[in-house]
Amino acid sequence: MSKTPTDNTLQAIISHAKEYGFVFPSSEIYDGLSAVYDYGPYGAQLKKNIRDYWWNSMTQMNENIVGVDTAIFMHPTTWKASGHVDSFSDPLIDNKDSKKRYRVDHLIEGHADKLIQNGDQAAADKLIADMDALLANDDYVGLKKLIDDHKIHCSVSGTGNWTEIRQFNLMFSTELGSVTDEASTIYLRPETAQGIFVNFLNVQKTARMKIPFGIAQTGKAFRNEIVARQFIFRMREFEQMEMQFFIKPGTQKEWYEHWKNERMKWHLSLGIAPNKYRFHDHVKLAHYADAALDIEYEFPFGFKEVEGIHSRTDFDLSRHQEFSKKKMQYFDTEINQHYIPYVIETSVGLDRMFLLILSHAYEEETIHKEDGTTDMRVVLHLPARIAPNKLAILPLTKKDGLPELAKELMDECKKSFHCFYEEKDAIGKRYRRQDAIGTPFCVTIDHQTKEDGTVTIRHRDAMTQERIPMSQVKALVQEAINN
Ligand code: ATP
Repeated sequence: MSKTPTDNTLQAIISHAKEYGFVFPSSEIYDGLSAVYDYGPYGAQLKKNIRDYWWNSMTQMNENIVGVDTAIFMHPTTWKASGHVDSFSDPLIDNKDSKKRYRVDHLIEGHADKLIQNGDQAAADKLIADMDALLANDDYVGLKKLIDDHKIHCSVSGTGNWTEIRQFNLMFSTELGSVTDEASTIYLRPETAQGIFVNFLNVQKTARMKIPFGIAQTGKAFRNEIVARQFIFRMREFEQMEMQFFIKPGTQKEWYEHWKNERMKWHLSLGIAPNKYRFHDHVKLAHYADAALDIEYEFPFGFKEVEGIHSRTDFDLSRHQEFSKKKMQYFDTEINQHYIPYVIETSVGLDRMFLLILSHAYEEETIHKEDGTTDMRVVLHLPARIAPNKLAILPLTKKDGLPELAKELMDECKKSFHCFYEEKDAIGKRYRRQDAIGTPFCVTIDHQTKEDGTVTIRHRDAMTQERIPMSQVKALVQEAINN
């Protein structure tokens, strides 16, 4: 058996995710809703396992991090204070001929990619550097000139007939209350972080936390993304896993480094090759940050952000103090002083992490058999700890007491982890189906089991099989999950 180089095309992953019950287009019977997706049986479980792994790594493995679960709707002043009402927007440009709308940075980056394909890396680097400098100054006239000077054209109409650049706020709004007069505009949160900031003192006091400490939360966020594409990479409704770490002012550099390293360790602990990751330092800083970087992963469509690490200073807490007129200060008993803490944020998209895991795990593998022929299988090399099913229990036949033995094993194991039971079809076919959903172990119960209590356990990645006592199966699987 040998492995062919993987062909991780996005299209193959999308089809596989749909066919095997991981991800469906939302309301598909009505032709779907752009950039909104539903998770199927295996997808929901995989997503939950990734979320749990993150949650435990934050709140269980760190004595000084606690969790919260705050509401999606928040008082509208929250978003005024956070700066989202005024500046959570993307610069956009429309092509007058095709009417196609682009995010300015995406349009220019697309042109830079073309330059690289044509072997002109230096020109691409200069273009990106020029763009970053103009974006940093919100210089839209300059950006428009950059687009014109480089003769950047629309991919649909092929023309360079552009509108002026303008800002588009990404927050969704709705109305609270049933009577229009009394209704006030509220927003669907575009990030979960603000639910943490407004509860800073509630949490600090009730959980009796001392700085430095963190507050973690996972939950839905909503952004009216203009260019929504690349499957679940950029969605309008998505889930974030965020942690705000509150620190003493002046210590932000060391804590920024700390969380940068910790978060990379977390990613690598899932068994993903380090060369698939890189850090990208921000040139243009968001309105709240004094340092920021992205952790990028090499998706099938190139290196892209999966997580952001931001040194947010005391921006958020100070602004909430200013807008709410409530003190957001912490009393540090070690130095006998009040201060507004600084914050380091780690923010990772759960759906993006899901796509990352699928991209890493998906393989179309050619199997060279002993008789010289070849076979093919699609396998998801999911880490055992996050795979939706950990163990498939497969009696060889439906009779001779084999299902009864299999059920015994099922009852023993299902209390500890997710198992899957199946009696139908040839064993090879059943193995392939489990490979396709990433089940790390299959156990076959056969006639020998009745005689000596042993079973055949098959390892997904190496496809090796060994006979072990049925009584050892649970411990073996459990060890792989904990690894
Ligand atoms: P991008 O530059 O890709 O729009 P961002 O810098 O705006 O992302 P943050 O505001 O830092 O993203 O959000 C933190 C994380 O949330 C991102 O690293 C990403 O994983 C996730 N995320 C942000 N927007 C989306 C989206 N539209 N769909 C899915 N995940 C998202």
